[in-house]
Amino acid sequence: MRQMIIAGNWKMHKTVSEAVSFVQELKQQVANTRVEVVVCPPFTALAPVAEALKGSSIALAAQNMHWENQGAFTGEISPLMLKEIGCKYVVLGHSERRQYFGETDETVNKKVKAALEHGLVPIVCVGETLAQREANATEQVVATQTRGALADLSPEQVAGLVIAYEPVWAIGTGKTASDQDAQQVNRYIRQVIAQEFGQSAAEAVRIQYGGSVKPGNARGLMSQPDIDGALVGGASLKVEDFKGIIENSL
Ligand code: PGA
Repeated sequence: MRQMIIAGNWKMHKTVSEAVSFVQELKQQVANTRVEVVVCPPFTALAPVAEALKGSSIALAAQNMHWENQGAFTGEISPLMLKEIGCKYVVLGHSERRQYFGETDETVNKKVKAALEHGLVPIVCVGETLAQREANATEQVVATQTRGALADLSPEQVAGLVIAYEPVWAIGTGKTASDQDAQQVNRYIRQVIAQEFGQSAAEAVRIQYGGSVKPGNARGLMSQPDIDGALVGGASLKVEDFKGIIENSL
């Protein structure tokens, strides 16, 4: 059985003090859940949030990283740095990184490999734009992105990571994929994993849905057989909303 994983991607939101008070409240509110809860603060808040989360089961994720350990890469953060402060996960290849910061399947693949080398679990994001969906290219796009991001990995490595299917047209727009559409694409991604890495990796890998997930639509989406959790943006910024999604996902 795959454990449900709900991750809050805060994007460029919350100062250190806002982040710390958020997780202090969250950890009390979700103390007994069977869901794996993850928060993804901005870089500046990672270390103080790690400190505030000590003793709780909420896991910490970064939103991006470089693939090198160190070097002359102004403005970048390395896997070593994230590992030392207690990150368990790292979000890689988010569509905003692809769209605004030139992330490609090739750089995502380098980052995925670097994360795994350092014992960080990648949350790999894939998803089609509206134009691609309208051109009936959804499957082709997510297959290419999935194969590209996971190139050269072993079946065991793939089994342990997380994929987030996030249709770009659903992110921050209030438009959610229907339960059936999301299920269909998640199942398709699992089939691609089965072809490339075998059945047991496909059965073990957790595949989230992301894109305007809210407390009100979480139950329908999260009850689909191939949806193993959510990557939540806007609705992860308020404890009440995020908690509602967590509660409605079982
Ligand atoms: P959203 O963002 O929930 O605000 O649509 C999801 C994401 O980008 O991970």
